Amino acid sequence: MTERTALYSPESLLALDGIDELERMKAVVNPFWNRARLDVTWSLPVMAGMTESSKISLQQMREATKEELLTFHDPSFVETLDLFGNTGSAFSARFGLDTDDCPVFPGVHRYARLPVGGVIDATIGVAKGKFKNAMSFVGGFHHAMESQAAGFCYLNDTVVAIKKYKEVNPGKKVLYLDTDVHHGDGTQKAFYADPDVLTISLHEKSMGFFPGTGKPEEMGIGEGKGYSVNVPLPPLTDDVEYWRAFEDAIVPIWQVYKPDLVFWNVGADAHFGDPLADLMLTFDTYHRLTMTVRQLVHEGERKLVAVGGGGYNPVTTAKVWTIVLAGLADMALPPVLPNKWLVLIEKYGLKMGRDGWTDRPSRMDEKHYPKVKRAVDDAINKVKELIFPVFGLE
Ligand SMILES: [Zn+2]
Repeated sequence: MTERTALYSPESLLALDGIDELERMKAVVNPFWNRARLDVTWSLPVMAGMTESSKISLQQMREATKEELLTFHDPSFVETLDLFGNTGSAFSARFGLDTDDCPVFPGVHRYARLPVGGVIDATIGVAKGKFKNAMSFVGGFHHAMESQAAGFCYLNDTVVAIKKYKEVNPGKKVLYLDTDVHHGDGTQKAFYADPDVLTISLHEKSMGFFPGTGKPEEMGIGEGKGYSVNVPLPPLTDDVEYWRAFEDAIVPIWQVYKPDLVFWNVGADAHFGDPLADLMLTFDTYHRLTMTVRQLVHEGERKLVAVGGGGYNPVTTAKVWTIVLAGLADMALPPVLPNKWLVLIEKYGLKMGRDGWTDRPSRMDEKHYPKVKRAVDDAINKVKELIFPVFGLE
């Protein structure tokens, strides 16, 4: 039994040049698939020297095989994605490809397959006790469906990894926690009828906000009824209200369910600095989530895999993921941000904002507070009403 945290390096993605080609082809930079995001997020722990620690086992991603992808994905979807990768351009709206969110570019199939291979290896490695726990910054493509790319997601690494885990460990229970600010629709759908994979998603829900699903009433079907949990949160939800929802609606279910493996899609896009969403979390909540997830995991089989998910302000995303990594690996954060990293973000024209690892605490505007509190109350009460009875909770 090793005490090391496996960390999956995106260096193989950074070595490809398809996203550079994409940036040349399109007038607007894709918020997910761009070099600044990949480079800035990964470079923070590297330049801080964290990846050289004996507490980290640095791992390389590999491309998932076709056989692995077919445990979930439709063969014609996988083949179409391969073809796009080889030709660099084509058209197939049928599969959600060649859109603003899921553009095609040279080698797109490799960009899509590498994180899947990494996350499968992370999951199997943790399950076998090869690693204490594991994290891949690039992963958590929760909008990808069986035969549909959507919301920057081509292939659903999480679903494939959980399916592979279940192949090797029949009868084991998985808890999938999704704190990305968007509803984890693709992952929820894949396990909608499966009571052995409990999916829990806390997300923003507001008019026109992607993907539009994620009401508490979406609670699973058949034997899986009660095993899809959704906590929709209003815009401007802050640390206090978020934490209330997590402790009141999620923790009791988790403790009764007693999962064998926990999969966490972190998502740095619930931070207030994210340009695509409207929640108001600070770094403190990500730290608290990390500590609480670890505590809950340690009440059970101690098997945890974390993936980065979304996050579209590369500077805050880098800090969130590094905070989570430090928590998982029991490492101290460096007292100051590495100078080399500050030079790097400047090179990409990004703004630093507040220095260090904390945000300035702020109170919610009194004008908005009653409305936000009411909406969070509604979400918590709905989960208690619909889901708690399934777990014998009151
Ligand atoms: Zn997201």
